[in-house]
Amino acid sequence: MDLTHRPRRLRQDRVRDLVSETSLEPADLIAPVFVDATTDERIPIESMPGHDRVPIDGIVARVEEVLETGVEAVMLFGIPESKDPEGSRAWADDGVVQEAVRRITSKTDAYVITDVCLCEYTDHGHCGPLEEELRSEDALEDGAACEPTMTVDNDATLAALEKIATSHARAGADMVAPSGMIDGMVGTIRSALDEAGFEHVPIMSYAAKYESAFYGPFRDAADGAPAFGNRRHYQMDPANAREAVREVRLDAEQGADVMMIKPALPYLDIISTVRSEFDHPVAAYNVSGEYAMLQAAAEKGWLELEAVATESLLSIKRAGADIIVTYFAEDVAQRL
Ligand SMILES: [Zn+2]
Repeated sequence: MDLTHRPRRLRQDRVRDLVSETSLEPADLIAPVFVDATTDERIPIESMPGHDRVPIDGIVARVEEVLETGVEAVMLFGIPESKDPEGSRAWADDGVVQEAVRRITSKTDAYVITDVCLCEYTDHGHCGPLEEELRSEDALEDGAACEPTMTVDNDATLAALEKIATSHARAGADMVAPSGMIDGMVGTIRSALDEAGFEHVPIMSYAAKYESAFYGPFRDAADGAPAFGNRRHYQMDPANAREAVREVRLDAEQGADVMMIKPALPYLDIISTVRSEFDHPVAAYNVSGEYAMLQAAAEKGWLELEAVATESLLSIKRAGADIIVTYFAEDVAQRL
């Protein structure tokens, strides 16, 4: 048999790196960190081995640990000392994230990205203040509406997001990342930042964020589980792909600098589509459930953790992500 084409030639040890199409670098990774105003000591997050909620006094040391691995960027999530229906501690100048940002940026060279949302700050755990959902007459006639259903008040949430983003920028945040899937959030935050003199602060938008069951462990970590209902009124239906393109386009029009897809592994097709349709940098959030399932399988001896973690991140990059937010950031960076 005459085999002119033998792809195996390029899989030999001394040439395979030369023809490798995708690489992982510590500089591509963002490490999420949790700062908790309700504690004086680190609290391990049970469903996310290796991750803790860190007190404000310990946040600089925590970020220094990240930097030592070669990862240069952190994404900061805050757990406030108190919650209320409006989530007012989210924009307090002496709030937990604002204070943490001031400390991190004055003591380290970390690039600090802040989560801009309300779910960790509202006592009901939703991503904005609530209003009664408007229903059609048909629904009322069907008798389905005996109990009023609550949903997030979109436009009232926009006013809160302006205040949160500008308070983070005032504290020194390098980039803000609105995560609530609120219509108009990017445009509103862009004009608020510009008006306050922060036109240099980029926005990484959670442009296509799905209503996913893979967020479970994060809700332990950030204490942000909704007290009732779910987030399907504002996060995307996992069945939809074309809608993701529409969401990303809207954010592009409103001035988003980086487009995030969340979660990552179950949505590699979305990452790939967004990569090919837009010229913005694409970020993917390798979420807590993606981390926890590999950790759990490794603990049982069913998978080899380092290998599956690296392969997961490589697949996310191969799909088209430039940036990966991941709980594996430090472990993987250390090995690179
Ligand atoms: Zn939220």
